[in-house]
Amino acid sequence: MSQKLQAVHASIQAAAAAVSRRPDSVALLAVSKTFGADMVLEAIAAGQRAFGENYLQEAVAKMAAVALALQAGPDAATAQPLLEWHFIGPIQSNKTRPIAENFAWVHTVEREKIAQRLSEQRPPHLPPLNICLQVNISGEASKSGMAPAEVLAAARAIVGLPRLQLRGLMAIPEPTEDLQKQHAAFRQTRELLQQLHAELPAHAAQLDTLSMGMSADMAVAIEEGATIVRVGSAIFGQRERTIQS
Ligand SMILES: *Cc1c(COP(=O)(O)O)cnc(C)c1O
Repeated sequence: MSQKLQAVHASIQAAAAAVSRRPDSVALLAVSKTFGADMVLEAIAAGQRAFGENYLQEAVAKMAAVALALQAGPDAATAQPLLEWHFIGPIQSNKTRPIAENFAWVHTVEREKIAQRLSEQRPPHLPPLNICLQVNISGEASKSGMAPAEVLAAARAIVGLPRLQLRGLMAIPEPTEDLQKQHAAFRQTRELLQQLHAELPAHAAQLDTLSMGMSADMAVAIEEGATIVRVGSAIFGQRERTIQS
């Protein structure tokens, strides 16, 4: 695990260096879906602090198990306060409350109504919930995310919600071996964020996030401006359960 994490960090650094970006301008989100609390604890011991989860029940149980194990262990003081859980799965509108209560980030907001509920349900003692709008950048009929043409109106409506901090965009391009197509999809996502900067200048500084790139395509995503890469199998190994994304 520690070696795989180091290898992923090395890939991030190489991709950032290739386009003269600072390596610390790209955050690594370790996607721990389907893997147990033991694996998360191993990653924590190796220095990882941010974890992505797709399934609410699984995530909440895992968070509790991790918190309990940390309490007993030597990393309690250093790791627990810095742990950051990101929700990266599809959101049902009747499941927004536990998401608002348990996560620091949500990458998969694809409707204004979901954002409103998350804002209403974010507990007052927690900092605002960081969110990204998920964009269906490749226009796949079966994929989640709003159409690029819908993003500006949604951002305008969501950016003022009191208990949220709109941070940027998230995309999962159609998988392809074609490097040019990979570049194009990530570039379009970056350009969409730049458009938001131009249209919402008062909020440009907070719109600092491009959540894009996974194990197979993170280098290309970083070359095109990713600020968070969401990496699962390259850290934790192949998943056994099949995942609907
Ligand atoms: C599973 C998943 C990932 C990680 O995918 P890997 O190919 O294992 O790196 C990233 N983002 C989302 C939204 C996912 O569902």
